[in-house]
Amino acid sequence: MINLYNSLTRKKEEFKPVKAGEVSIYTCGPTVYWYAHVGNLRTYIFEDVLKRVLIYAGYKVNHVMNITDVGHLTSDEDTGEDKMEKGAKRENKTVWDIAQMYTDAFQKDLATLNIIEPDVWVKATDTIPGQIELIKKLEAKGFTYVIADGVYFDTAKLKEYGRLWPNKMDIKAGARVEMVEGKKNDRDFALWKFTPSGVKRQMEWDSPWGKGFPGWHTECVVMSCDNLGIPFDIHCGGIDHVLIHHTNELAQAEAAYGKQMCNFWMHGDYLNLKGEKIAKSSGNIVLVGDLAKRNIDPLAYRYLCFTTHYRIPLSFSWESIEAADNALKTLYEKVRAMKAAGITAVSLKSREAEAYREKFEAGIYDDLNMPKALAVLWEAVKDSKLSESEKLALMIDFDRVFGFKFDAVETIDIPAEISELVRLREAARQAKDWSKSDEYRQQIEKLGYSVEDTAAGPKIKKI
Ligand code: AMP
Ligand code: ZN
Repeated sequence: MINLYNSLTRKKEEFKPVKAGEVSIYTCGPTVYWYAHVGNLRTYIFEDVLKRVLIYAGYKVNHVMNITDVGHLTSDEDTGEDKMEKGAKRENKTVWDIAQMYTDAFQKDLATLNIIEPDVWVKATDTIPGQIELIKKLEAKGFTYVIADGVYFDTAKLKEYGRLWPNKMDIKAGARVEMVEGKKNDRDFALWKFTPSGVKRQMEWDSPWGKGFPGWHTECVVMSCDNLGIPFDIHCGGIDHVLIHHTNELAQAEAAYGKQMCNFWMHGDYLNLKGEKIAKSSGNIVLVGDLAKRNIDPLAYRYLCFTTHYRIPLSFSWESIEAADNALKTLYEKVRAMKAAGITAVSLKSREAEAYREKFEAGIYDDLNMPKALAVLWEAVKDSKLSESEKLALMIDFDRVFGFKFDAVETIDIPAEISELVRLREAARQAKDWSKSDEYRQQIEKLGYSVEDTAAGPKIKKI
């Protein structure tokens, strides 16, 4: 049994798929006007874990992720500039070029973080006709009105607008800072925005209402429902999407189709840096490339994310990511040592090993409790009652969810010459002949290896 927290009902619920044995997931993808920062990527790692847990449980997962390449404005309200057009001006390139460039960069980041690729990628600009059809449907049902700025959704017409909003939230909390002139209600949102007169947009399309571009929320409804059917199983994103983006997706999908859009909504909490939300606009930013520059394994960022439950804010600091990197390296060393000793993973037989797997499953099936899963991993690794082969088997099995790539850890063959120099250095150290021991270290390093003194003896690595 898998329990997941559903933002729609505000409680943990047993997950039951629409179609037996299969799960359909839609995750809001990046707005490709700049690089994804580690905050964005915390959300994609949470979604990756969700998917891996469902696959671990035996489901066939169909995952759709979109690329927002038009219509996401600088404010989540319906004011401000289109982020894509703004990015293009900043870089003096076409909107299409920056969309391609940052889509490529995003997909590279996913691979670096060992995030499983979605089964279907879909670009907002490839689905414009479907979006126009959706707006026509809403218009026919009386949910729209047209003002100088665009076609708007009339939230007063939908009895249950705001179903995703947390209980205690004041209905005014979603209130807009800037009001678009002519809107009937400050909660109403754009389905189609007209190109303002006197402005030349790079991306614009004809529509029955006038030249312009789609609203961000409309795009995601079309890309999710057209690919996954309605209702589909799970819709995910970051917590910042609850109040406006997902609220407005849900409203128009249910208004248009007269059915619940999806059964579960799941949201990952923020990654903060120096106590503040990481945001491209504030310059408070860390990118995946910054990790490697500090010699941090990018997969250590997965480890860091797993130390805190996805529904709790996580603070990023260089100290915390370095601690995660050290912990992960210790695990890699364990795997390397086991493989070097010729140990191979066996199928689990002992009661103790089976008990660890049950504890691991209890953690991950309880709303993706990864801190618990990490604790079980460490407990198993340190348990002297388990055989080394069983430990390796558990690590590789759990790694289907962690995604640390334990399988790919390579043992290194230490040349005899290096082993001999390490032995001589050890002897010099025993004799407290520090200058000789330093000499041997330099010779070892010249030959491309490093030696580190640990409680368990010298550890040799290829540089
Ligand atoms: P965007 O490219 O702005 O549409 O954001 C992509 C994803 O990152 C969305 O699911 C956001 O909710 C999420 N996100 C944005 N900022 C953060 C943050 N600081 N921490 C966690 N997730 C974030
Ligand atoms: Zn979306």
